[in-house]
Amino acid sequence: MTIEDIDKEFFFHPFTQLREHQQHGPLTMVEGHGSTLTDTRGRTYLDAMAGLWCVNIGYGNTEMAETLRAQTERLPYYHTFASMGNEPVARLAQRLIAMAPGEMSKVFFGNSGSDANDTQVKLVWYYNNVLGRPEKKKIISRRRGYHGVTVMSGSLCGLPGMHAGFDLPLPMVHFVRAPHRLWEQQEGQSEEEFVRDLADELERLILAEGPETVAAFIAEPIQAAGGVIVPPASYFPAIQEVLRRYDVLLIADEVVCGFGRTGDTFGSEVFGVRPDLITVAKGITSAYVPLSACIVSAPVWDVIASGADKYGVFSHGYTYSAHPLAAAAAMTNLDIIERDGLMRQAKARGDHLAERLRAEFADHPLVGEVRGYGLLGAVEFVKSKDPLTAFDPALKMSAAVVQRARELGVISRALPASDSIAFSPPFVVTEDEIDEMAALARQALDDVARDLRLLP
Ligand code: PMP
Repeated sequence: MTIEDIDKEFFFHPFTQLREHQQHGPLTMVEGHGSTLTDTRGRTYLDAMAGLWCVNIGYGNTEMAETLRAQTERLPYYHTFASMGNEPVARLAQRLIAMAPGEMSKVFFGNSGSDANDTQVKLVWYYNNVLGRPEKKKIISRRRGYHGVTVMSGSLCGLPGMHAGFDLPLPMVHFVRAPHRLWEQQEGQSEEEFVRDLADELERLILAEGPETVAAFIAEPIQAAGGVIVPPASYFPAIQEVLRRYDVLLIADEVVCGFGRTGDTFGSEVFGVRPDLITVAKGITSAYVPLSACIVSAPVWDVIASGADKYGVFSHGYTYSAHPLAAAAAMTNLDIIERDGLMRQAKARGDHLAERLRAEFADHPLVGEVRGYGLLGAVEFVKSKDPLTAFDPALKMSAAVVQRARELGVISRALPASDSIAFSPPFVVTEDEIDEMAALARQALDDVARDLRLLP
């Protein structure tokens, strides 16, 4: 049996069209270096997505390998329940508090962005229970937002495809619009009016539900999987004014933005977000080992800690919470990013990416918008620019372009919520590699458009 046959026979793939997989089988990667991947047939690909927005230091880093070997020999695992500790995780917590924006106090560790956002909701609920406000439990999220796949974090996603078939979202989750200018900003509306409109929508929802029932608002600084949606500068300040008025906590989901993707340490710093709780994962270890964290502000921590009087033991945590291998990997990953100036480099490469994407796509008749920030970019496809008309979703335009780009040797990602393709390469990507990614993605669009007779 080939590895592809074994895969088809036994492996249940996440986020996969299961029937098509049975026909076409997997694309199996065996090796990676820098921004390049190699499959079982020896074909190479430029990874314009750093895996799933996460392999920020690039593939094949030998310092990470050395750290993992050394920590495995010294202490591969010990739990952290009941006041047990380990060295790497204490140092990592100290470092994260020093890096994080605002007055942050403590770090709780998990294994994925999904479980961390799930934990955030439990922290918010616990907080309000300790404060004697058991009715203040609803969570407001945004359409096009992505926050994970557990029962709660899947509920928080503003992507209908993630709810269908799973009986989600849970009833305590409510949604407002995303700051997606292309579709949400009305004709003739100024940016200021657009932001006011979105803040008013949030306020109306809070008032309709009853402020005494609304606990938290969750948002990615830049919505990644929803379409790389970059908010106007005044968006978060206006949203936060509303949240403060009604005593609603803000959870910043920094799973993609955190640790340099925007060119700054956190997206919150770029967009004026002042979170009460911060979720990180992915870039914290560049995905060499699974790790996530909830960074908790001092005022929220104080309330949660005082819950000991009411509830005794804080009864939440995973076997793998604060895993020493993951913490050691995170320390080395952050060392590499700092020492090699990779956040600055991400910004510089991001400027180059933006320039190349604009050059290849901005004037294309089937492109509605080229957008991005830092080392994050997206190209959104439209049937017509004037009047602005989306493609029929059944056409799966962005998926077709991604498929063709892969045949040409570039791995991008389709973001169907906005019919876009994404670019989020490793921070170590070279300018030449970016040029190739943009040029081959453009060729892929033209090939697909010709096949569909959308272009002459
Ligand atoms: N939040 C955001 C913003 C994400 O992009 C993701 C993953 N793409 C998650 C949460 C969930 O993380 P995980 O897949 O590690 O559960």
